[in-house]
Amino acid sequence: MSAPIKIQYLKGIGPAKAKLFERLEISTVQDLLHYYPRTYQDRRLNTPPNEYNAEALTIFKGRVLRTQQIPARSVLVFKAVLEDEKGQQLECTWFKKRPYRAFRFDPFGQIKKDFHLNNEVWVIGRKNDRGAMFARQITVEEYYVAADALTQLHAGRLTPIYGLTEGLTNKQFRQFMYEALQSSNPADEPEILPPALLQKRRLLTAPQALKAIHFPNSLAELESARARLAYEEFLLLATAWGIKRTQTKILAKDYSYEVKKTLLTPFRTQLGFTFTNSQKKVINEIFSDLLSPRPMNRLLQGDVGSGKTVVALCAMLLAVENGYQAALMAPTEILAEQHYLTFKRMLAGLDVNLAVLTSSTKAAEKKKILKGLADGSIHILVGTHAVIQDNVAFHNLRLAVIDEQHRFGVKQRSKLKEKTAKLDLLTMTATPIPRTLALAFYGDLDVSTLSELPPGRQPILTECATSKLAYDRVREEVQKGRQAYIVFPLIEESEKISAKAVTEEFEKLKKVFPQFRLAVLHGQMKQEEKEKVMADFAAHNTDILVATPVIEVGIDVKNATVMVIENAERFGLASLHQLRGRVGRGEHASYCVLVPQHAGSVARERVDIICATRDGFKIGERDMQLRGPGEILGTRQSGELEFKAGDIFKDQAILHWATQDRDEILSADPGLVKPEHALFRRKLQELYQQNWHLIDLS
Ligand code: ADP
Ligand code: MG
Repeated sequence: MSAPIKIQYLKGIGPAKAKLFERLEISTVQDLLHYYPRTYQDRRLNTPPNEYNAEALTIFKGRVLRTQQIPARSVLVFKAVLEDEKGQQLECTWFKKRPYRAFRFDPFGQIKKDFHLNNEVWVIGRKNDRGAMFARQITVEEYYVAADALTQLHAGRLTPIYGLTEGLTNKQFRQFMYEALQSSNPADEPEILPPALLQKRRLLTAPQALKAIHFPNSLAELESARARLAYEEFLLLATAWGIKRTQTKILAKDYSYEVKKTLLTPFRTQLGFTFTNSQKKVINEIFSDLLSPRPMNRLLQGDVGSGKTVVALCAMLLAVENGYQAALMAPTEILAEQHYLTFKRMLAGLDVNLAVLTSSTKAAEKKKILKGLADGSIHILVGTHAVIQDNVAFHNLRLAVIDEQHRFGVKQRSKLKEKTAKLDLLTMTATPIPRTLALAFYGDLDVSTLSELPPGRQPILTECATSKLAYDRVREEVQKGRQAYIVFPLIEESEKISAKAVTEEFEKLKKVFPQFRLAVLHGQMKQEEKEKVMADFAAHNTDILVATPVIEVGIDVKNATVMVIENAERFGLASLHQLRGRVGRGEHASYCVLVPQHAGSVARERVDIICATRDGFKIGERDMQLRGPGEILGTRQSGELEFKAGDIFKDQAILHWATQDRDEILSADPGLVKPEHALFRRKLQELYQQNWHLIDLS
């Protein structure tokens, strides 16, 4: 592979244009070639309807019969009548603002040159009704002189439409792309897929696919190009996962567990409920991982309220029974604090030392905790990502649990991976990875699923209503002795602005509910304040908690039966589902009232889905379809699941091929050392070495 060519060396692109391309993250010719069209327009004549010509765009090719400039006051109008080979005519219109001061400049100058009598042109435009003399008439959006060499890039074909930035046009884009394709050396686009696979799956070669994704000659060719590129993307990621998986398998733990039950038995006896069958099954799965000689890397997925926390606690107790330390990380301080209190309550009387560490733990307290962790006197640490900071040294940490793992940023997670490479790792999430995706990529990654909720859960009635009706519901429930949440969205993703807004709403709500005890909670409050507000609400010292989405994950107050979500359209599906999961946790029937303000179509759709289903898995799948997997799984920055050509939902068949082939490749050549895999391996290295250090392909 030769060195990448900077984009400004492409004909027609200087330093200024190069800057524009940089905004699209295109800095080399290679980047440009891999910037695939956002969509296409079918600009061929007389093609049957398809997904690229459905909109009301007129495409016409004809000779100029006559032209006319129409004088008008503010807007200048130019018209041309074209006639095609069959004798059909089309009237084309251009509107231009009268140029200010520069009277001499003719805004139609170029058009007049190009539309001289009898010249053959392509026009692309939309129907208009303004001053039309003909039945067939359009306002012209683009035109191309038929005899010009580059016209074939823009008209009379399936035409690529790119995602642009200000200062660049599609026309320029297409011409630069063409230039790039012409000037690029085939060796710059080497075929990384082994020939056997190309043949087996009847795939286009890399250069063929690249050319066809930009300038397809037919719909079928476009589909083949997309399939080839999608396949490659899927195969690369699936293989990366496959390798990572084998590597963790080879690692051997230098410690082992024994089920002693010195803590587990008393813990279960005093728990106050029995595990669901699902929990029992999952605990067994986790225990057998812990007892096995290789480190655990298990994902525990279970819907909101399915009881993941006690499962994690069992695993941690097994570690403590064996004289090891365990840590649990939560994405927010409130949640860490709550887990800590829950554990404390559940472990009362047992010989287990707990501590909680967050970024607002006071210096003196922190010092004490760090000491306890270093000398082993603290057995279980609960914390936020403060725990993964470098200065936290454990005596013998063996088990790490990450709660609501998708909430952690990519950086935090990769830091965690560094620290936990040789530990037993349990990650928990209520935003499940859709089954299809999990199977495809994670392959046989260990996934445990809590498929049932603990018994006795009350249904949650989800409804859409106005604020007034929502408040009636709140009043009714609080009068019965229950409690309520009223949640406002984050504003512009800023906790600060949101804090102000929610405080204002809080003042208003105090007037709406003068007879009740209200409290406000937002991310800008001091840790002690937050703790106090949560503790007061848990103890039923307050009736209504007005909050930002800080309460979204994990909060567990059984007496709360109403969740009002204001501006519901501003929340993602997963958030709505999480918020709803804050109620219905006890013996009382519960309500989730969505109060939408401005409902766009996607927003409307989200609200409808939430009202219609309680199944977190289905919601997760829909959310991923609406927002893309990278957004949901928090991998967007690392590009882990960002596919340029592939679509994990539409391309199920290709996904299936890719994972099947991955398994075959890795079983025949686990280290990818065979010559036919050399380029594929190099590509994997390129892609994953920086941001996915766990894959060791050196
Ligand atoms: P999530 O899976 O959303 O993290 P939690 O672990 O917070 O759910 O559990 C929700 C609630 O259900 C907690 O109050 C927990 O104590 C309770 N719980 C968990 N398992 C059971 C069970 N088997 N029977 C009854 N209640 C349970
Ligand atoms: Mg939880």
